[in-house]
Amino acid sequence: MATKIQWTDETYNPVVGCNKISDGCKYCYAEMMAKRLASMGHKKYQDVVGNDGWNGEVYLDEKTLEEPLHWRKPRKVFVCSMGDLFHPKVPFGFIYRVFNVIRACKHHTFQLLTKRPENFLKFMEQRKKLQPDTSWPMLSNYWSLATCENQKTANQRIPRLLQVPAKIRGVSCEPLLEEINFRWTPYCYQATEETYRQYIDRKGEIDQYEFLKQLNWLIIGCERLPGNKAGRFNGELIRTPFQHAKFYQAVRNLIQQGKDAGVPVFFKQLPINGEVVSDINKFPKEFRIREWPNA
Ligand code: SF4
Repeated sequence: MATKIQWTDETYNPVVGCNKISDGCKYCYAEMMAKRLASMGHKKYQDVVGNDGWNGEVYLDEKTLEEPLHWRKPRKVFVCSMGDLFHPKVPFGFIYRVFNVIRACKHHTFQLLTKRPENFLKFMEQRKKLQPDTSWPMLSNYWSLATCENQKTANQRIPRLLQVPAKIRGVSCEPLLEEINFRWTPYCYQATEETYRQYIDRKGEIDQYEFLKQLNWLIIGCERLPGNKAGRFNGELIRTPFQHAKFYQAVRNLIQQGKDAGVPVFFKQLPINGEVVSDINKFPKEFRIREWPNA
């Protein structure tokens, strides 16, 4: 399905449905859309939402599964924009079938964005056990991306993301709900399962951007509320000039960290006068940055 999301060309939803797992899910856009589509009679969505939003179920859509095989023109494909492919209720067998489609569609680039990279990793490990002799997981046409809205989720999710086999790995800080610091973070040693001491002894020394240099992409964007209003930052709605300034400073810091580590940055949307603005031409000059991974 065509989309307005600036960092992709197409959405592909062989799985829909989810449940909220962290603060970044509070104003889940997919949930809002799913409720609307369910009320219009779409069966696929009626099975996954109730009056209060997601009901925790997932719908495996056989009809959609093979859609990308019919798209001739190469495109960037956002997988599961209406859920999470690595939700615990999605059977590994079905994820495997999605990966078979990815393998068969070398002309497309599949963007796998999740808040559950630990399940992505489990899936990859299980598959490797079943087929240890194939190079199947190192397909070059998928990107492994994790959403991290604050320092806590960055600390939890990024060590797992770094263990997922992928040629391109990235972090989406959208919605950015707090300042995030990627310098001197413990992700590198956690991703190896070593202790910090073992890691330092083996490496000799580490540079402050060692972790960030292992990423290939950083997406940044503010939270969007219904009605296109800007969402929260540091626990408050972004409405006053002071709150805007705090958010801008956090973005400046992230862009600078990306620059220092040589990681491409894609700045998706920012708050201006309490509204979310996605048109890059309306951004202050310093924020006009939309870079892509060097695939
Ligand atoms: S993980 Fe994604 S799809 Fe699921 S509730 Fe959170 S924001 Fe929504």
